[in-house]
Amino acid sequence: MADYGLIIDNCKVATATTFDIFNPATGELVGKAPIASGEQLDLAVAAAARAFESWSAASEERRKQACLDIAGVLQAHMAELSRLLTMEQGKPLKGMGSEFELGGCMAWAGAQASFDLPVKIIEDTDSSRVELHRKPLGVVGSITPWNWPLMIAIWHIVPAIRTGNTVVIKPSPYTPLGTLRMVELISQVLPPGVLNAVSGHDELGQWMTAHGDIKKIVFTGSCSTGKKVMASAAGNLKRITLELGGNDAAILLPDADPQVLAPRIFGGAFINSGQTCAAIKRLYVHDSIYDQTCAALQAIAEATPVGNGLDEGVMMGPLQNRMQFDKVVGLVEDAKARGARILCGGAPLERPGFFYPLTLVADISDGTRLVDEEQFGPVLPIIRYSDVDDAVRRANASEFGLSGSVWSNDLEAAKAVAQRLECGTAWVNKHAA
Ligand code: NAD
Repeated sequence: MADYGLIIDNCKVATATTFDIFNPATGELVGKAPIASGEQLDLAVAAAARAFESWSAASEERRKQACLDIAGVLQAHMAELSRLLTMEQGKPLKGMGSEFELGGCMAWAGAQASFDLPVKIIEDTDSSRVELHRKPLGVVGSITPWNWPLMIAIWHIVPAIRTGNTVVIKPSPYTPLGTLRMVELISQVLPPGVLNAVSGHDELGQWMTAHGDIKKIVFTGSCSTGKKVMASAAGNLKRITLELGGNDAAILLPDADPQVLAPRIFGGAFINSGQTCAAIKRLYVHDSIYDQTCAALQAIAEATPVGNGLDEGVMMGPLQNRMQFDKVVGLVEDAKARGARILCGGAPLERPGFFYPLTLVADISDGTRLVDEEQFGPVLPIIRYSDVDDAVRRANASEFGLSGSVWSNDLEAAKAVAQRLECGTAWVNKHAA
């Protein structure tokens, strides 16, 4: 079994205590994750602060090259990292799984190298000249979730490094191993201290948000933790970037063709077994095409192989952890008790691991927990509507506002509805693109 450690100043550092990481598909031990002490977090932050002095002064070309080098390391170790990701996270190797995630990491890292940070001239007149310069902040603390652990880590790390900051990353306690190994590999192509990794339980994240020498926190995770991060970061007026939960609505307009659109809608809802922030989590379908839509989605769900992500042909894996599994079970049971109709799935699979089948729930409406809460699992409620204005109102009646989509043959009509969705990103005829 591989040996995992904290990564501080480009060295692997052992800890006094560790915790076990189990494969969510089999229950087998994948590895032991180190638990960083407060002193070890301080060492990691100090290493990043020392490295900042020279990294912030490095040329643009040097930092661009670092992004390309990171992409190169990911490419060279793709097979190892994707296998570890599948064993730890549960997603399949193929399809929209681990290799897809590693591909996203490489693309993102490489793309950062193509961006320039030009000085922006805001005013240039006879009497004054105003320039906007982008300056690095210092040590950036990155805190990541367990659903797309490597891609979200790369989304945090690479822009920070590209712009001259240094980083201490803390992965989710559910999926720390892939990130520790990835940082170990990447740190070899960076100067010591530019990228460091610590792991442990949730309290480690809290120590980071309160740390006086971390200048910014980039956090991806749930809304409830995001609120705690924001409150704690206020202690030294840290800058924050928060990417939080979602309960995305998709609206099928009356003229949409369910047969044509079903594969894309299915992908938008069930990507990573629904454990994706910007997945379709509520599907509003016009009465006139409701039954065809249910039938088209059911055919795809029943033909999609669920299993151990390392097995050939598997397209959907288990839920990642017990907490999430129990949550999904509870939401579906509540929907059943309220009279919703289960088209397929609807009860845990009888096998080891956190397996829940692909589940479609019809004849369900707003006011049910499965519709109102973020299920974050392989379950899609399909909600009937007869008036588009009403569908928009219901889509917007949510405390979440991440993204949404509208589906139709009439692009202009769909665009007009999409503009009324109260969310950060609204797509037409696609989701989470
Ligand atoms: P979570 O909020 O439970 O945990 C996220 C991270 O925060 C973990 O590393 C955890 O250890 C850490 N943490 C926990 N308590 C903390 C505290 N008090 N202070 C600082 N850090 C703390 O989220 P999760 O269950 O890992 O991830 C699922 C959630 O993330 C879902 O809501 C999902 O929608 C969201 N998510 C959002 C995006 C996005 O880009 N918007 C992407 C992926 C996931």
